[in-house]
Amino acid sequence: MASLIRALRPLCRTAPSFRMATRRPLPNHWTPSTHAFSTTSRRRDVDLSNLTPTPITLLSETESMMADTVSKFAQEQIGPKVRDMDEAEVMDPAVVEHLFEQGLMGIEVPEEYGGAGMNFTSAIVAIEELARVDPSVSVLVDVHNTLVNTAILRYGDAQARRTWLPKLATGTVGSFCLSEPASGSDAFALQTKAEKLADGYRLNGSKMWITNAMESSVFIVFANLNPSQGYKGITAFIVEKGTPGFSIAKKEKKLGIRASSTCVLNFDDVVIPKSSLLGEEGQGYKYAISVLNEGRIGIAAQMTGLALGAWENAASYVWNDRRQFGQLIGNFQGMQHQLAQAYTEIAAARALVYNAARKKEAGQDFVQDAAMAKLYASQVAGRVSGSAVEWMGGMGFVREGIAEKMFRDSKIGAIYEGTSNIQLQTIAKLLQKQYTN
Ligand SMILES: Cc1cc2nc3c(=O)[nH]c(=O)nc-3n(C[C@H](O)[C@H](O)[C@H](O)COP(=O)(O)OP(=O)(O)OC[C@H]3O[C@@H](n4cnc5c(N)ncnc54)[C@H](O)[C@@H]3O)c2cc1C
Repeated sequence: MASLIRALRPLCRTAPSFRMATRRPLPNHWTPSTHAFSTTSRRRDVDLSNLTPTPITLLSETESMMADTVSKFAQEQIGPKVRDMDEAEVMDPAVVEHLFEQGLMGIEVPEEYGGAGMNFTSAIVAIEELARVDPSVSVLVDVHNTLVNTAILRYGDAQARRTWLPKLATGTVGSFCLSEPASGSDAFALQTKAEKLADGYRLNGSKMWITNAMESSVFIVFANLNPSQGYKGITAFIVEKGTPGFSIAKKEKKLGIRASSTCVLNFDDVVIPKSSLLGEEGQGYKYAISVLNEGRIGIAAQMTGLALGAWENAASYVWNDRRQFGQLIGNFQGMQHQLAQAYTEIAAARALVYNAARKKEAGQDFVQDAAMAKLYASQVAGRVSGSAVEWMGGMGFVREGIAEKMFRDSKIGAIYEGTSNIQLQTIAKLLQKQYTN
């Protein structure tokens, strides 16, 4: 398959034209009508007087092609492997290779560093389309693009960008290492310590729950260089696999997204050079907050794609395959209303996701929008994938199709990159500020 990026590059350079975000149906599925998702928004803080308001889910030609191409790629290259990878709890290395070949590991990385030089929404669209087929592959791409690449692109100095971005865009997977055994929601209580040496730093401590750890060769590690300063001592470092003292201590066995690796990492007197410092000392907490705020839009996109994939799989079954009482079960109004309700919720989740992405691209405040998108999309993913199991009866419960896997996979949306309670806390804090006299 030709590289997606090679195909899209000429388009990236021309003025965008637009078309509505529609989705190519997955094979053997009921074909949804191509009505676009749309919503309205109250953009009080932007002058839109000269613009015709457009639906939030309107995609540029490049973004549309990204959606179509990733959808095809996911169905053809990933789809046949999903069940086996989940059972084996391992990511097929060929899938990772394909992701690089397709240019999906450097979506926002500028062309001068070997990336695709596309916008954030293109990454969001890709993450969503991958999740529609396999949320495990989706999170691998999500973490690599929205956390690792973004952190280096935004905070790395010229040397770090030149050293790492070409690798990350073309063949080297990355991980983002913030959480620890004793610090999850309270992320900045982390205990991994960094000590300054004459010509570098020494790291000691451990990290937990690190996505992509089995596939990664580059790890962005947050450690405290000055614990007496509390979170203001937190500093980000770039650590290479193979550095003496660095080890993967354990690979977790999980409920869902089982093909995505999640590991405990140990740092025992890991000595790294000065050039491993990412950005400035003591700025790590700012970097982490900033990339996680936008990373949450990625997780919201993952959950929206998951919900749609689960819905389409079940819709295909009830409208094409399964007959009871002499007719297709999807003919019963009791079923139809549930399918309609679920699809409406997916559309609402997608509107939140795209709105947050567009606000980020427009340089507006998007923190509350990102938190609302992640909160709501993960709730929708849980509800829709749970209902999809029921709509398929016994066939939804067995480990043959993807229904039960999507249901298991949906649970993580309410946990990583800030639990649902933490999203609620963020939303409430911002609302309180806005509504307090
Ligand atoms: C599969 C997986 C992949 C992950 N990948 C990464 C990764 O790549 N990099 C990384 O750094 N981390 C990663 N994480 C870690 C993830 O971000 C944390 O699990 C998450 O932030 C929650 O932390 P915790 O598990 O310690 O839960 P805890 O913080 O212990 O929370 C447990 C419960 O308490 C609630 N709670 C905690 N504090 C409050 C509060 N103030 N108010 C109300 N409720 C509260 C939570 O909402 C939750 O319901 C991953 C986790 C998983 C499971």
